[in-house]
Amino acid sequence: MTDHLPHLKKKPRVAIIGAGVVGLGMGWRLAGRAVVEIFERGAAGSGASWAAAGMLAACCEAEPGEETLVALGRESQARWPGFAKELLRVSGIDVELRREGTLVLALTADDQAEIGHRLEFQRQLDLPLEWLSAAATRAREPHLAGKIAGALFSPEDHQVDNRKLVQALRVAAESAGVTIHEHRPVKEILVQGGQARGVVCDDGTMAPADIVVLAAGAWSRRIGGLPPDRRPPVRPVKGQMLALKMDPAAPLLNHVLWAPGAYLVPRRDGRLVVGGTVEEKGFDETITAGGLLKLLEAAWRAVPAVEELPVDEIWVGHRPGSRDDAPILGRGPLDGLFYATGHHRNGILLAPVTADAMARLILDDVIDPAIRPFGLERFLPARAAE
Ligand SMILES: Cc1cc2nc3c(=O)[nH]c(=O)nc-3n(C[C@H](O)[C@H](O)[C@H](O)COP(=O)(O)OP(=O)(O)OC[C@H]3O[C@@H](n4cnc5c(N)ncnc54)[C@H](O)[C@@H]3O)c2cc1C
Repeated sequence: MTDHLPHLKKKPRVAIIGAGVVGLGMGWRLAGRAVVEIFERGAAGSGASWAAAGMLAACCEAEPGEETLVALGRESQARWPGFAKELLRVSGIDVELRREGTLVLALTADDQAEIGHRLEFQRQLDLPLEWLSAAATRAREPHLAGKIAGALFSPEDHQVDNRKLVQALRVAAESAGVTIHEHRPVKEILVQGGQARGVVCDDGTMAPADIVVLAAGAWSRRIGGLPPDRRPPVRPVKGQMLALKMDPAAPLLNHVLWAPGAYLVPRRDGRLVVGGTVEEKGFDETITAGGLLKLLEAAWRAVPAVEELPVDEIWVGHRPGSRDDAPILGRGPLDGLFYATGHHRNGILLAPVTADAMARLILDDVIDPAIRPFGLERFLPARAAE
């Protein structure tokens, strides 16, 4: 399959479609051993990577059926401290990896029972999670509601500022020699002789390449050049979000808090990110009263003092959801074509492992065991019929 791949002979030319955390991260890791160009429809980092909450939640979100995804998330979590440190060194931007951990709050006995049920499964995977009594929870977060049942503490589920992350990745990639073409949407993958040979942009210009990497997030299925059944099965999953403004000197929260119905993510500058709705509405960008109400009510039930906080921002984003909610990482359906998409609600968490493993696959033809279960093959008809 890889017999035409030129990396064995010379520095390959790589065209990446999409400048989110996935495309920028891969570009950075490929630079030096490849000539990398990234084509981006809008401004770099303005897609889901900008809209996200930045939680690195591999443990507290784990649900039955997600064993391999949890393993991938844990692998990426382990890479995060080194990734953040390296980014700071090369870009000068601190992505604010905060390590207070995450609390999954139970307001009622019913919430506690639900968390307990998931915890049984999570313990089988040896995930570091600890149940805290109401008093122990309040000792960690004094501004929680008057009546709570307790919380699950996840000491290794941290957070980063995802907007700083895209800035840092951009600087890192560009200083390593990557060219980023903003406002240059790709219309289709150029296919010649059954091989990916570059990209064709909306303006009709053609950019030849030895290798093409599709990393267009929720838009990945829209890129032409391939028959529909060979395109990655990725759809947009709409998420409405809002941010409140806390006093950075006296923040209401320090941990990431998963409350029933919403999560709350405190940033160092006092922003409190509250998210996110999960809606199957295609690329709809409407911010609705109902969506905001749901988030604000859930936040207020958990931390009543949010009532007093000014609203800083409201926005909407589209998660790239695949058919099984796990990413699609590996070779595409043509020689010279690779897929890195479908990261759904975990793309920030998975940025380091995606960048490292995809660069290794593209440059050295080695499949990192961490990404082996996430190939496109799992969705292809032959496999589905087995
Ligand atoms: C509301 C919300 C909350 C989230 N919270 C978290 C979280 O807390 N933790 C976490 O780990 N993940 C979270 N995620 C998920 C995470 O944001 C995504 O999985 C991740 O950003 C995907 O990165 P990406 O680079 O694939 O996609 P994107 O960042 O969307 O980048 C894809 C890029 O491709 C570009 N593009 C599209 N079409 C074309 C074209 N034709 N030509 C060229 N470029 C094109 C787009 O403009 C875009 O910039 C959240 C997502 C949302 C929406």
